[in-house]
Amino acid sequence: MELSTLCKRLAANPLPAARSSDSHDDHASLKLRLSWCAETGVFRWFVPKQYGGWQWSDVEQIEGYLALSQACLTTAFVVTQWNAACKRMVLSSNEALKQRWLPAMASGDVLATVGISHLTTSRQHVQSPVLKAVPDGQDGWKLNGMSPWVTGGSVAQVIVVGATLPDGRQLLCAVPSDRQGLQPGPGAPLMALSASLTDAVQFQDVSVRPEDWIAGPAENIMHSGAGGGAGGLQTSTLAIGLTQAAVEFLQAEAERRPDLQRLANKLSQDANQLRQVLLALATGETSVSIAPPGDGGVVLDGTVGITDWSAARLREHANSLVLRATQVALGAAKGAGFVEGHAAGRWCREALFFLVWSCPQPVLAANLCEFAQL
Ligand SMILES: Cc1cc2nc3c(=O)[nH]c(=O)nc-3n(C[C@H](O)[C@H](O)[C@H](O)COP(=O)(O)OP(=O)(O)OC[C@H]3O[C@@H](n4cnc5c(N)ncnc54)[C@H](O)[C@@H]3O)c2cc1C
Repeated sequence: MELSTLCKRLAANPLPAARSSDSHDDHASLKLRLSWCAETGVFRWFVPKQYGGWQWSDVEQIEGYLALSQACLTTAFVVTQWNAACKRMVLSSNEALKQRWLPAMASGDVLATVGISHLTTSRQHVQSPVLKAVPDGQDGWKLNGMSPWVTGGSVAQVIVVGATLPDGRQLLCAVPSDRQGLQPGPGAPLMALSASLTDAVQFQDVSVRPEDWIAGPAENIMHSGAGGGAGGLQTSTLAIGLTQAAVEFLQAEAERRPDLQRLANKLSQDANQLRQVLLALATGETSVSIAPPGDGGVVLDGTVGITDWSAARLREHANSLVLRATQVALGAAKGAGFVEGHAAGRWCREALFFLVWSCPQPVLAANLCEFAQL
């Protein structure tokens, strides 16, 4: 299937906002979407050629994510979590692990996900780590505790998790989801993206064997080697994709409602410029000058021609833009947009996700200051 066909199919079959009463329905609908992604080769974008992937460049992946997130943010988000798991495996020096999982992941036969936020952005204020690893006296470890956020944990066959040893060092491993003692939650009811089936995963004396090992033990594993860092450009990519959905809706409305034209033009211009910054950052460029405003032109941050872009600065602007653009779409859709099932209402709720998803503290602080007009 072509990517454009996949996107049309995703957009034409919007996911319900809430969990359904039968969790089998939710599992089936997420699995169906991921099977369409597999048919399109989406999972191959991220996998090196020697393991059956297409090894797309960062720019190609970004273009793909923009299209997916414009069509269905939930599907695009689930793919990012799959990609996060894949990336850690690719960076590992455990060749047997790669041979075991990557070819089956590339084809879409194996769904993977990740539970690592408790090493980066979640539960950082608690005294004791939420997921602990202790050596098992042989070559492996035992995991106990929980990983608070795992997307699609109940449909994945392998979960990449991080755990903390008694000496504070951290370990990354890929645990098959049928391993004894591992219990994913069915998917928590969320204010948006409930169909991503995000929930905690419990670990009770779960064995991690040498063949499951990805990296560590090491201090601050997410900032070294196979940790691969957290965040990056993909969160902003999805925010810009969702913005594009709202802008396209506004442009269509503006065709018969001229009063909306200025709003549609301005938001479209802002979205295009952030897209330009995103693609420049993906190619290692940081000095991107935003064009000076013309008629109804763009003033980002009250500043014309920002040149020192970084992933964090882009995220701050992308968060702001997605919240504003989706709310303009809701205002344009009026009361009809407030009725369950209308895309504009869904986009508004989905846009709020960017305030909590892997959002670095300084970025969040800047967004909150903007809201408080500080
Ligand atoms: C829908 C969704 C899907 C996600 N999917 C994944 C995934 O697949 N994999 C993954 O690894 N992560 C995932 N995440 C996690 C995400 O990236 C963030 O890590 C997470 O949103 C951080 O929120 P938290 O509530 O855990 O933060 P926390 O910082 O743990 O905050 C929780 C609560 O603790 C209290 N608190 C916070 N800070 C302090 C403080 N300094 N002092 C005292 N109390 C404090 C507050 O009451 C707060 O409400 C997901 C998140 C969401 C919402």
